[in-house]
Amino acid sequence: MEKSKVFFTDLRTTPKLNLLDKLEKLLERTGIENIDFKDKLTAIKIHFGEPGNLAYIRPNYAAKLVHIVKKLGGKPFLTDANTLYSGRRSNGVDHLESAYENGFNPLATGCHVIIADGLKGVDYREIKIDQELCKTAKIGSAIAESDILISMTHFKGHEMTGFGGTLKNLGMGCASVGGKLEQHSTSKPNIKAEKCISCGQCLKNCAHDAIVWDENKKAKIVTGNCVGCGQCIVVCPVGAVRVLWEAASELLNKKIAEYTYAAIKGKQCLHISFIMNVSPDCDCWNSNDVPLVPDIGIAASFDPVALDMACVDLVNGAPIIYGSKLTDSHHEHGDLIGEDKFSHVHPNTNWRIGLKHAEKIGVGSMEYQLIKI
Ligand code: SF4
Ligand code: SF4
Repeated sequence: MEKSKVFFTDLRTTPKLNLLDKLEKLLERTGIENIDFKDKLTAIKIHFGEPGNLAYIRPNYAAKLVHIVKKLGGKPFLTDANTLYSGRRSNGVDHLESAYENGFNPLATGCHVIIADGLKGVDYREIKIDQELCKTAKIGSAIAESDILISMTHFKGHEMTGFGGTLKNLGMGCASVGGKLEQHSTSKPNIKAEKCISCGQCLKNCAHDAIVWDENKKAKIVTGNCVGCGQCIVVCPVGAVRVLWEAASELLNKKIAEYTYAAIKGKQCLHISFIMNVSPDCDCWNSNDVPLVPDIGIAASFDPVALDMACVDLVNGAPIIYGSKLTDSHHEHGDLIGEDKFSHVHPNTNWRIGLKHAEKIGVGSMEYQLIKI
Protein backbone atom coordinates (compact mmCIF):
# COMPACT_ATOMS: atom_id res chain seq x y z
CA MET A 1 0.00 0.00 0.00
CA GLU A 2 1.22 3.49 -0.80
CA LYS A 3 2.43 5.42 2.20
CA SER A 4 0.56 8.57 3.21
CA LYS A 5 2.24 11.72 2.00
CA VAL A 6 3.27 14.33 4.53
CA PHE A 7 4.53 17.56 3.01
CA PHE A 8 7.02 19.64 4.97
CA THR A 9 8.61 23.03 4.77
CA ASP A 10 11.39 24.29 7.00
CA LEU A 11 11.50 27.83 8.36
CA ARG A 12 14.34 29.34 6.30
CA THR A 13 13.19 32.49 4.53
CA THR A 14 14.37 35.16 2.12
CA PRO A 15 12.92 38.64 1.50
CA LYS A 16 11.15 37.12 -1.51
CA LEU A 17 9.82 34.09 0.35
CA ASN A 18 8.56 34.68 3.88
CA LEU A 19 6.87 32.16 6.14
CA LEU A 20 3.37 33.05 4.92
CA ASP A 21 4.53 32.47 1.33
CA LYS A 22 6.00 29.16 2.45
CA LEU A 23 2.71 28.13 4.02
CA GLU A 24 0.93 28.92 0.76
CA LYS A 25 3.45 26.89 -1.26
CA LEU A 26 3.13 24.01 1.20
CA LEU A 27 -0.65 23.95 0.82
CA GLU A 28 -0.42 24.14 -2.96
CA ARG A 29 2.02 21.22 -2.98
CA THR A 30 -0.21 19.23 -0.62
CA GLY A 31 -3.06 19.63 -3.09
CA ILE A 32 -5.50 21.97 -1.33
CA GLU A 33 -7.04 22.89 -4.70
CA ASN A 34 -8.28 19.29 -5.03
CA ILE A 35 -10.83 20.05 -2.33
CA ASP A 36 -14.12 21.25 -3.75
CA PHE A 37 -14.57 24.48 -1.77
CA LYS A 38 -17.24 26.08 -3.96
CA ASP A 39 -19.72 27.72 -1.53
CA LYS A 40 -18.78 25.20 1.16
CA LEU A 41 -18.84 26.09 4.85
CA THR A 42 -15.27 25.45 5.90
CA ALA A 43 -14.43 24.99 9.58
CA ILE A 44 -10.83 25.85 10.40
CA LYS A 45 -10.25 24.11 13.72
CA ILE A 46 -7.61 25.89 15.77
CA HIS A 47 -6.74 26.39 19.44
CA PHE A 48 -6.93 30.14 20.18
CA GLY A 49 -4.60 29.77 23.17
CA GLU A 50 -5.49 30.38 26.80
CA PRO A 51 -4.71 34.07 27.47
CA GLY A 52 -1.24 34.27 29.00
CA ASN A 53 0.03 31.35 26.95
CA LEU A 54 2.03 32.65 23.99
CA ALA A 55 2.92 29.39 22.24
CA TYR A 56 -0.25 29.16 20.13
CA ILE A 57 -0.21 29.55 16.34
CA ARG A 58 0.09 33.15 15.17
CA PRO A 59 -3.18 34.52 13.70
CA ASN A 60 -1.21 35.58 10.59
CA TYR A 61 -1.06 31.94 9.49
CA ALA A 62 -4.80 31.60 9.95
CA ALA A 63 -5.31 34.76 7.87
CA LYS A 64 -3.25 33.26 5.05
CA LEU A 65 -5.27 30.04 5.11
CA VAL A 66 -8.55 31.99 5.19
CA HIS A 67 -7.40 33.96 2.16
CA ILE A 68 -6.57 30.76 0.25
CA VAL A 69 -9.88 29.09 1.14
CA LYS A 70 -11.82 32.18 0.03
CA LYS A 71 -9.85 32.32 -3.21
CA LEU A 72 -10.87 28.71 -3.85
CA GLY A 73 -14.54 29.60 -3.32
CA GLY A 74 -15.06 28.42 0.26
CA LYS A 75 -16.73 30.13 3.21
CA PRO A 76 -14.18 29.74 6.02
CA PHE A 77 -14.63 30.39 9.72
CA LEU A 78 -12.31 29.80 12.68
CA THR A 79 -13.60 27.55 15.41
CA ASP A 80 -12.89 25.72 18.64
CA ALA A 81 -15.12 24.13 21.28
CA ASN A 82 -15.38 25.14 24.94
CA THR A 83 -13.15 23.64 27.61
CA LEU A 84 -14.03 21.35 30.47
CA TYR A 85 -12.05 23.22 33.09
CA SER A 86 -12.62 26.69 34.47
CA GLY A 87 -10.32 28.84 32.38
CA ARG A 88 -11.09 31.70 30.02
CA ARG A 89 -12.46 29.49 27.25
CA SER A 90 -15.10 27.53 29.14
CA ASN A 91 -18.16 29.36 27.76
CA GLY A 92 -18.98 31.02 24.46
CA VAL A 93 -18.55 34.61 25.63
CA ASP A 94 -15.23 34.19 27.45
CA HIS A 95 -13.95 31.96 24.66
CA LEU A 96 -14.73 34.52 21.96
CA GLU A 97 -13.13 37.27 24.04
CA SER A 98 -10.01 35.16 24.52
CA ALA A 99 -9.82 34.44 20.79
CA TYR A 100 -10.10 38.15 19.97
CA GLU A 101 -7.58 39.06 22.66
CA ASN A 102 -5.07 36.64 21.14
CA GLY A 103 -5.57 38.14 17.69
CA PHE A 104 -8.12 35.76 16.15
CA ASN A 105 -10.65 38.42 15.13
CA PRO A 106 -12.29 39.23 11.79
CA LEU A 107 -10.05 42.22 11.19
CA ALA A 108 -6.82 40.24 11.57
CA THR A 109 -7.88 36.95 10.03
CA GLY A 110 -10.49 37.95 7.44
CA CYS A 111 -13.21 35.64 8.76
CA HIS A 112 -15.55 35.12 11.68
CA VAL A 113 -14.96 33.11 14.82
CA ILE A 114 -17.70 30.64 15.79
CA ILE A 115 -17.50 28.77 19.08
CA ALA A 116 -18.34 25.26 17.92
CA ASP A 117 -20.47 24.09 20.86
CA GLY A 118 -22.16 27.40 21.62
CA LEU A 119 -22.70 29.45 24.73
CA LYS A 120 -22.51 26.72 27.38
CA GLY A 121 -20.95 23.80 25.55
CA VAL A 122 -24.18 21.89 24.95
CA ASP A 123 -24.67 22.72 21.30
CA TYR A 124 -23.47 19.51 19.66
CA ARG A 125 -24.43 16.78 17.20
CA GLU A 126 -24.23 13.16 18.25
CA ILE A 127 -22.27 11.25 15.58
CA LYS A 128 -22.74 7.49 15.43
CA ILE A 129 -19.35 5.76 15.28
CA ASP A 130 -19.77 2.30 16.90
CA GLN A 131 -16.18 2.05 18.05
CA GLU A 132 -14.61 0.02 20.85
CA LEU A 133 -14.96 2.68 23.59
CA CYS A 134 -17.44 5.18 22.18
CA LYS A 135 -20.60 4.27 20.30
CA THR A 136 -21.38 7.89 19.56
CA ALA A 137 -19.40 11.13 19.82
CA LYS A 138 -20.59 14.60 20.76
CA ILE A 139 -19.06 16.98 18.22
CA GLY A 140 -19.61 20.75 18.42
CA SER A 141 -22.40 21.56 15.99
CA ALA A 142 -20.53 24.25 14.03
CA ILE A 143 -17.91 21.63 13.19
CA ALA A 144 -20.33 18.72 12.74
CA GLU A 145 -22.43 20.77 10.31
CA SER A 146 -19.53 22.18 8.31
CA ASP A 147 -18.87 20.77 4.84
CA ILE A 148 -15.11 20.87 5.07
CA LEU A 149 -12.78 20.60 8.08
CA ILE A 150 -9.24 21.96 8.08
CA SER A 151 -7.19 21.51 11.22
CA MET A 152 -4.44 23.94 12.15
CA THR A 153 -2.50 22.37 14.98
CA HIS A 154 0.22 23.69 17.24
CA PHE A 155 2.38 20.61 17.77
CA LYS A 156 3.68 20.40 21.35
CA GLY A 157 3.93 18.20 24.41
CA HIS A 158 0.93 17.29 26.49
CA GLU A 159 0.79 16.25 30.12
CA MET A 160 -1.97 13.67 29.64
CA THR A 161 -1.41 12.34 26.12
CA GLY A 162 2.37 12.69 25.67
CA PHE A 163 2.11 15.11 22.79
CA GLY A 164 -0.68 17.33 21.57
CA GLY A 165 -0.98 17.04 17.80
CA THR A 166 -3.61 16.79 15.11
CA LEU A 167 -5.56 13.93 16.71
CA LYS A 168 -5.78 15.87 19.95
CA ASN A 169 -6.83 19.04 18.14
CA LEU A 170 -9.55 17.09 16.33
CA GLY A 171 -10.66 14.43 18.81
CA MET A 172 -10.65 16.44 22.00
CA GLY A 173 -10.81 19.88 20.41
CA CYS A 174 -13.94 19.31 18.30
CA ALA A 175 -15.83 17.64 21.17
CA SER A 176 -18.48 19.57 23.05
CA VAL A 177 -18.00 19.93 26.82
CA GLY A 178 -19.93 16.67 27.31
CA GLY A 179 -17.77 14.97 24.70
CA LYS A 180 -14.65 16.13 26.49
CA LEU A 181 -16.09 14.80 29.72
CA GLU A 182 -16.68 11.42 28.11
CA GLN A 183 -13.05 11.27 26.97
CA HIS A 184 -11.60 12.41 30.30
CA SER A 185 -13.89 10.66 32.72
CA THR A 186 -11.61 7.67 33.26
CA SER A 187 -8.77 9.89 34.42
CA LYS A 188 -9.94 10.93 37.86
CA PRO A 189 -7.28 12.07 40.30
CA ASN A 190 -7.03 11.53 44.05
CA ILE A 191 -5.45 13.58 46.82
CA LYS A 192 -2.70 12.38 49.13
CA ALA A 193 -3.96 13.68 52.47
CA GLU A 194 -0.52 13.57 54.10
CA LYS A 195 0.86 15.96 51.44
CA CYS A 196 -2.07 18.39 51.44
CA ILE A 197 -1.33 21.71 53.19
CA SER A 198 -5.01 22.76 53.14
CA CYS A 199 -4.42 25.84 50.97
CA GLY A 200 -7.81 25.52 49.27
CA GLN A 201 -6.56 26.21 45.73
CA CYS A 202 -8.05 23.01 44.34
CA LEU A 203 -11.47 23.75 45.88
CA LYS A 204 -11.39 27.25 44.43
CA ASN A 205 -10.47 26.07 40.93
CA CYS A 206 -12.65 22.99 40.55
CA ALA A 207 -15.47 23.98 38.21
CA HIS A 208 -17.52 20.91 39.16
CA ASP A 209 -17.73 21.22 42.98
CA ALA A 210 -15.92 17.92 43.21
CA ILE A 211 -13.54 18.78 46.08
CA VAL A 212 -14.51 19.09 49.73
CA TRP A 213 -12.71 19.23 53.08
CA ASP A 214 -12.47 15.99 55.04
CA GLU A 215 -12.76 15.83 58.83
CA ASN A 216 -9.06 16.81 59.19
CA LYS A 217 -9.47 19.78 56.79
CA LYS A 218 -7.59 18.02 54.05
CA ALA A 219 -8.94 18.25 50.51
CA LYS A 220 -10.86 15.23 49.26
CA ILE A 221 -12.28 14.49 45.79
CA VAL A 222 -15.91 13.45 45.45
CA THR A 223 -15.42 10.99 42.63
CA GLY A 224 -19.04 11.13 41.51
CA ASN A 225 -18.77 14.84 40.72
CA CYS A 226 -15.26 14.75 39.27
CA VAL A 227 -14.97 14.91 35.47
CA GLY A 228 -11.22 14.31 35.36
CA CYS A 229 -10.38 17.69 33.83
CA GLY A 230 -7.04 17.82 35.66
CA GLN A 231 -7.29 21.44 36.82
CA CYS A 232 -6.66 20.54 40.48
CA ILE A 233 -3.42 18.77 39.55
CA VAL A 234 -2.06 21.92 38.04
CA VAL A 235 -3.07 24.34 40.78
CA CYS A 236 -1.91 22.28 43.76
CA PRO A 237 1.34 23.91 44.96
CA VAL A 238 2.70 20.78 46.65
CA GLY A 239 1.85 18.02 44.17
CA ALA A 240 -0.71 16.41 46.46
CA VAL A 241 -3.15 15.68 43.62
CA ARG A 242 -2.27 12.59 41.62
CA VAL A 243 -3.79 10.55 38.84
CA LEU A 244 -2.93 7.08 37.58
CA TRP A 245 -1.68 8.56 34.35
CA GLU A 246 -0.53 5.43 32.60
CA ALA A 247 -3.87 3.64 32.40
CA ALA A 248 -5.66 6.96 32.04
CA SER A 249 -3.38 8.11 29.22
CA GLU A 250 -3.94 4.92 27.23
CA LEU A 251 -7.72 5.16 27.45
CA LEU A 252 -7.70 8.87 26.80
CA ASN A 253 -5.54 8.49 23.69
CA LYS A 254 -7.82 5.75 22.36
CA LYS A 255 -10.94 7.81 22.96
CA ILE A 256 -9.33 10.80 21.26
CA ALA A 257 -8.68 8.56 18.23
CA GLU A 258 -12.35 7.53 18.19
CA TYR A 259 -13.55 11.11 18.54
CA THR A 260 -11.22 12.08 15.68
CA TYR A 261 -12.95 9.43 13.58
CA ALA A 262 -16.24 11.18 14.39
CA ALA A 263 -14.97 14.70 13.70
CA ILE A 264 -13.74 13.86 10.20
CA LYS A 265 -16.47 11.35 9.30
CA GLY A 266 -17.94 12.09 5.88
CA LYS A 267 -16.00 15.32 5.39
CA GLN A 268 -13.37 16.63 3.05
CA CYS A 269 -10.42 17.38 5.35
CA LEU A 270 -6.91 18.75 5.34
CA HIS A 271 -4.50 18.94 8.27
CA ILE A 272 -1.68 21.39 8.96
CA SER A 273 0.75 21.15 11.86
CA PHE A 274 3.01 23.93 13.09
CA ILE A 275 6.10 22.48 14.74
CA MET A 276 7.15 25.68 16.43
CA ASN A 277 7.34 26.68 20.09
CA VAL A 278 7.19 23.00 20.96
CA SER A 279 6.31 23.68 24.59
CA PRO A 280 6.18 20.73 27.00
CA ASP A 281 2.52 21.15 27.95
CA CYS A 282 -0.87 22.00 26.48
CA ASP A 283 -1.81 25.50 25.24
CA CYS A 284 -4.72 25.30 27.69
CA TRP A 285 -2.44 26.51 30.49
CA ASN A 286 -2.13 30.26 30.90
CA SER A 287 1.65 30.03 30.53
CA ASN A 288 4.07 28.29 28.20
CA ASP A 289 7.41 26.86 29.30
CA VAL A 290 10.65 26.91 27.28
CA PRO A 291 10.25 24.84 24.08
CA LEU A 292 11.74 21.34 24.13
CA VAL A 293 13.47 21.69 20.74
CA PRO A 294 14.24 24.53 18.30
CA ASP A 295 11.48 25.48 15.84
CA ILE A 296 11.32 22.89 13.06
CA GLY A 297 8.80 23.79 10.36
CA ILE A 298 5.27 23.33 9.05
CA ALA A 299 3.84 20.01 7.83
CA ALA A 300 0.58 19.21 6.04
CA SER A 301 -1.24 16.07 5.00
CA PHE A 302 -4.65 14.64 4.18
CA ASP A 303 -3.83 11.90 6.73
CA PRO A 304 -3.96 13.09 10.37
CA VAL A 305 -2.27 9.96 11.75
CA ALA A 306 0.64 10.18 9.32
CA LEU A 307 0.96 13.88 10.10
CA ASP A 308 1.21 13.27 13.86
CA MET A 309 3.70 10.45 13.33
CA ALA A 310 5.86 12.64 11.09
CA CYS A 311 5.80 15.49 13.62
CA VAL A 312 6.83 13.13 16.44
CA ASP A 313 9.75 11.87 14.34
CA LEU A 314 10.82 15.40 13.43
CA VAL A 315 10.81 16.49 17.08
CA ASN A 316 12.56 13.34 18.24
CA GLY A 317 15.20 13.81 15.55
CA ALA A 318 16.04 17.30 16.81
CA PRO A 319 18.41 18.30 19.64
CA ILE A 320 16.87 19.56 22.87
CA ILE A 321 16.96 23.15 23.99
CA TYR A 322 19.09 23.54 27.10
CA GLY A 323 17.10 25.12 29.89
CA SER A 324 13.87 23.39 28.83
CA LYS A 325 11.98 20.93 31.02
CA LEU A 326 13.93 18.12 29.35
CA THR A 327 17.16 19.33 30.90
CA ASP A 328 15.65 19.27 34.39
CA SER A 329 16.17 15.54 34.59
CA HIS A 330 17.92 14.48 31.41
CA HIS A 331 20.78 16.99 31.07
CA GLU A 332 23.36 14.25 31.63
CA HIS A 333 22.18 12.47 28.46
CA GLY A 334 23.21 15.20 26.02
CA ASP A 335 21.09 16.36 23.08
CA LEU A 336 18.66 13.38 23.16
CA ILE A 337 18.71 13.28 19.35
CA GLY A 338 16.64 10.29 18.22
CA GLU A 339 15.08 9.74 21.65
CA ASP A 340 11.40 9.94 22.48
CA LYS A 341 11.26 13.38 24.06
CA PHE A 342 7.58 13.12 24.90
CA SER A 343 8.12 9.99 26.96
CA HIS A 344 11.02 11.70 28.71
CA VAL A 345 9.03 14.78 29.62
CA HIS A 346 5.76 12.95 30.41
CA PRO A 347 6.93 9.48 31.48
CA ASN A 348 3.51 8.15 32.41
CA THR A 349 1.88 8.78 29.07
CA ASN A 350 1.69 6.54 26.02
CA TRP A 351 1.11 8.38 22.76
CA ARG A 352 1.76 5.31 20.57
CA ILE A 353 -1.46 3.70 21.80
CA GLY A 354 -3.50 6.56 20.34
CA LEU A 355 -1.83 6.51 16.94
CA LYS A 356 -2.08 2.71 16.72
CA HIS A 357 -5.75 2.80 17.65
CA ALA A 358 -6.43 5.55 15.13
CA GLU A 359 -4.71 3.46 12.47
CA LYS A 360 -6.71 0.37 13.47
CA ILE A 361 -10.06 2.13 13.13
CA GLY A 362 -9.20 3.68 9.77
CA VAL A 363 -8.44 7.29 10.66
CA GLY A 364 -5.10 7.09 8.86
CA SER A 365 -1.75 5.37 8.66
CA MET A 366 1.39 5.58 10.78
CA GLU A 367 3.41 4.80 7.65
CA TYR A 368 4.28 7.97 5.82
CA GLN A 369 6.51 9.47 3.21
CA LEU A 370 7.98 12.87 4.13
CA ILE A 371 8.17 15.17 1.14
CA LYS A 372 10.31 18.22 1.75
CA ILE A 373 9.44 21.17 -0.42
S1 SF4 B 1 -11.65 17.32 41.17
FE1 SF4 B 1 -9.98 18.04 39.85
S2 SF4 B 1 -10.09 16.74 38.03
FE2 SF4 B 1 -12.05 16.50 39.15
S3 SF4 B 1 -13.39 18.01 38.18
FE3 SF4 B 1 -12.46 19.02 39.98
S4 SF4 B 1 -10.63 20.07 39.17
FE4 SF4 B 1 -11.30 18.59 37.61
S1 SF4 C 1 -4.39 22.54 46.27
FE1 SF4 C 1 -3.21 20.79 47.08
S2 SF4 C 1 -2.46 21.48 49.06
FE2 SF4 C 1 -4.09 22.92 48.47
S3 SF4 C 1 -5.93 22.06 49.42
FE3 SF4 C 1 -5.84 21.20 47.37
S4 SF4 C 1 -4.74 19.26 47.59
FE4 SF4 C 1 -4.41 20.45 49.45
